[in-house]
Amino acid sequence: MSTFPIEQIRADFPILGEKIRNKPLVYLDNAASCQKPQAVIDSIVRTYSHEYANIHRGVHTLSVKATDQFEGAREKVRAFINAASVKEIVFVRGATEAINLVAQSYGASQLKAGDEIVISAMEHHANIVPWQMLCQQIGTVLKVAPINQQGELIFDAFEQLLSEKTKLVAIAHMSNALGSINPVERIVAAAHAKNIPVLLDGAQAIPHMPVDVRALDCDFYVFSGHKLYGPSGTGVLYGKQVLLEAMPPYQGGGDMIRQVTFEKTTYAGLPHKFEAGTPAIAEIIGLGAAIDYVSAVGMANIAAYEAELLTYATEQARQIQGLNIIGQAEHKGGILSFTLDHIHPHDIGTMLDSLGIAVRAGHHCAMPVMDFYGVPATARASFAMYNTRQEIDVLMQGIKSLIEVFG
Ligand code: PLP
Repeated sequence: MSTFPIEQIRADFPILGEKIRNKPLVYLDNAASCQKPQAVIDSIVRTYSHEYANIHRGVHTLSVKATDQFEGAREKVRAFINAASVKEIVFVRGATEAINLVAQSYGASQLKAGDEIVISAMEHHANIVPWQMLCQQIGTVLKVAPINQQGELIFDAFEQLLSEKTKLVAIAHMSNALGSINPVERIVAAAHAKNIPVLLDGAQAIPHMPVDVRALDCDFYVFSGHKLYGPSGTGVLYGKQVLLEAMPPYQGGGDMIRQVTFEKTTYAGLPHKFEAGTPAIAEIIGLGAAIDYVSAVGMANIAAYEAELLTYATEQARQIQGLNIIGQAEHKGGILSFTLDHIHPHDIGTMLDSLGIAVRAGHHCAMPVMDFYGVPATARASFAMYNTRQEIDVLMQGIKSLIEVFG
């Protein structure tokens, strides 16, 4: 993609200039966490240097400034995912906390024993364990929609799981272990046809493609700031206002109340009802800066550029004898999970690190996916907008040299 300003983008990420073991860093662990542009780093430094105080509490100038910036970030998130109102944007620590919030608040209050929750076989543990915990607590039942060998949801089987017992569908927009992009519009339509609300786990999708929650018509959408070039410790729960209004608070404490007496406490309105305690103030303001950054590049441009990178990487990987790509969905984001004959993924990770290449090796918090493919782990190269074809060449050369020596 000749028009994509790749050189300028790379220059905006200071860490990309680092040397690892005396080699230029090739950072391909973006699905775990993305690096941060200078604009995000500057935002955090600016907040702590000039505009920091606790929010929503003080009448003093700094508190008002910090509150304005913090609430400004909420509006940026709203616009970024096209939510109808800032009341629908709840700040949390990450996708994990957002799913736990929905499980414990929506799930525990609206579902009862015997009700079913449908997830898929490609979920991250964050979209499995909170539902299992709810099942243990209140007797709901977890149903798992299967995937095929390519790593795609088997849609018919998913649809067949939807019954009058189903009270929630919770599915990844994009898989972190396989890269598969689920047909979320069809999933939402099929569930809504049976009046079943849908939570989409957008932790992986959000940095790779435009997301419009109103077009998707999902009921909940969750993501983590650190995978969107923003600070760690930040995340977003989007929920339709009518659902959030009906849900009880998740945690109690400061900032989420209207009036407290020992006899009775009333709660703040949305979204503050779900934001007990002091949040990650500077970090959430930094998430706003990350959203400004990716919006200026354009999510559609990022998606197109990364699609080219993935196609190139897949073509190169297919030419390497003894390399097995795990997950070959037709609709896929920038993730290349693979194994090598005779070399354990952890050894792949360690040996690539000695060449300055950062990939993830492990089960990627998706142990059931590993079980499905009968592997203990995979190596995973995951791409971001700042990666290049040259870096993919370095990766492929590295893999070939491993195979020569150890394969
Ligand atoms: N869901 C998916 C698909 C993920 O990839 C991840 C993180 O890798 C999560 C949820 C959890 O995100 P976090 O650890 O930022 O809460």
